[in-house]
Amino acid sequence: MLDEVRATSSTRAKVAALGGYLASLGDDDLRRACTFLRGAPFPPGDPRRLGVGWVAIGAVLRELTRAPGDEFHATYRRHGDLGDTAAELLARYPPALFRAPLTLETVARGFEAIAGAQGAASRRVKAAALRTLFHDAAPREAAYLVKIMTSDMRVGLREGLLLPAIASASGRDPAEVRRAALLIADPGEIAVRARHNALHETAIEPGRPFRFMLASPVDAPRDAFAASVPALWVEDKYDGIRVQVHRTAERVAILSRTLDVVTAAFPELVAPLEAVGRAYVFDGEIVAWEGARPLPFVLLQQRLQRRDPLRFMVEIPVVLICFDVLHAGGRDLLGAPLSARREVLQALLPRGPVRLSAGSLARTPEELEARFRAARDAGHEGIVMKRPDSPYQPGRRGRLWTKWKPGVGTLDVVVVAAEYGHGKRAGILSDYTFAVRDGARLVTIGKAYSGLTDEEIAGLSAWFHAHTRRDLGAARLVEPVRVLEVAFDAITKSRRHDSGYALRFPRIVRIRDDKPAGEIDTLDRVRAMHAALARRAAGARDGPPSS
Ligand code: ATP
Repeated sequence: MLDEVRATSSTRAKVAALGGYLASLGDDDLRRACTFLRGAPFPPGDPRRLGVGWVAIGAVLRELTRAPGDEFHATYRRHGDLGDTAAELLARYPPALFRAPLTLETVARGFEAIAGAQGAASRRVKAAALRTLFHDAAPREAAYLVKIMTSDMRVGLREGLLLPAIASASGRDPAEVRRAALLIADPGEIAVRARHNALHETAIEPGRPFRFMLASPVDAPRDAFAASVPALWVEDKYDGIRVQVHRTAERVAILSRTLDVVTAAFPELVAPLEAVGRAYVFDGEIVAWEGARPLPFVLLQQRLQRRDPLRFMVEIPVVLICFDVLHAGGRDLLGAPLSARREVLQALLPRGPVRLSAGSLARTPEELEARFRAARDAGHEGIVMKRPDSPYQPGRRGRLWTKWKPGVGTLDVVVVAAEYGHGKRAGILSDYTFAVRDGARLVTIGKAYSGLTDEEIAGLSAWFHAHTRRDLGAARLVEPVRVLEVAFDAITKSRRHDSGYALRFPRIVRIRDDKPAGEIDTLDRVRAMHAALARRAAGARDGPPSS
């Protein structure tokens, strides 16, 4: 079925094919199918991990197919993709024994067995479960199994297909399904509710992941004030990773922007979070922090890349700064004004590694500027301004929250093509053409090759090799998944790129794997930045205004 979806280029045909398939399933299978279509073995917020990688999967495939000699590696080199390698090997060397066809249920059971394997025998148990799955899989099914197990279908733009398919399967309005999915991020839950006409939901519950409320950028402090707002709540803009914390009777779960469970990376936060209460949902930012000041974001990133968080707990300490509460002790707070939510948060939070964000009210653009300078002096990125009367709006980037960062600003873009470098980077995909979003389309806006470490480039290069859409020789069109933050000196109008704009002297600030490709910057944002920069340049030419 997925091959059918992949083969058609029309979005409408893809949605119809997926929708027809989803409609044919019972409720349990519908949940499972949506989870797998999202490209993951478990729903968002589920802390289970398969804990199998390339090596374990490769070993089982070699053993099962008895592919001769170096056939496994040769096939992998040809495809550059483990899923397609599995499919080809299983087609050429099918296992001898009778296949019991895979069902969504047997796949889910297999994943549960793999994730549940623990202790000394865990390698053996995982391998046995993998063997059963691949043994029963048709070759193309095996390809998708691998993609799910290595979480390689990646979310992002793909959810653009799943939600309309859920709408089509249930006969609901796609806008209604999209709205509900902001509050309930698990597509399986959405699909079942859509089918039973139970999409209407107004609360956030501990243990049920939601989409984060986001802020719109402003280029000047006066832009943050709407005519009817007498005062804004201003907070430091912390440069860390955005997280939601779900405390249920069973556990504390810390979820990243991509709704992956990252609790294990921050062991020192668990006990303080358990001590706060027994049922709550917080929104906040984890920041590397020492003494009274934040540490640079790169240190936090380093800590996240390590497998052994305990060792880095001392070297790179972190704090969780909470700035919102959506549920506390059985009380839903989604619709309560920010000022009331802050009061609840303040009463709950102890000091220590889990703390309350610093905030104050500002009534004029001048006060905002002073607050901005103080935030910068204290080592923060800028400020976030929030309307005190605003409810929490999951998944929305509106004017209720705005953010102000210094300088020209940066753009979050997605890489759409990669070229081989020169000199010591010959053979490495190190020059990246990137795009911003224009509705459902991606439009290119620049190309950059500087700013990353050799290690980061090697990692990206391998990933682009494995996720090539078209090999053009010197360059490769790649799956639009990897998000970069790029800085630049100016934005100019240009015919070179399909956005109609180009960035001057773009350089990569960081890889943003915490950000789904569906949330990159838009062409509208580029237009607004271009206009603001032009205004600023005109102002600089004319000199300061005389009073
Ligand atoms: P966005 O999250 O808006 O897509 P981004 O991830 O690129 O953008 P920025 O543009 O730097 O990040 O700013 C928004 C982010 O700032 C929020 O997503 C959140 O992670 C972070 N942030 C830091 N401090 C706060 C705060 N006090 N209130 C809300 N968000 C904050």
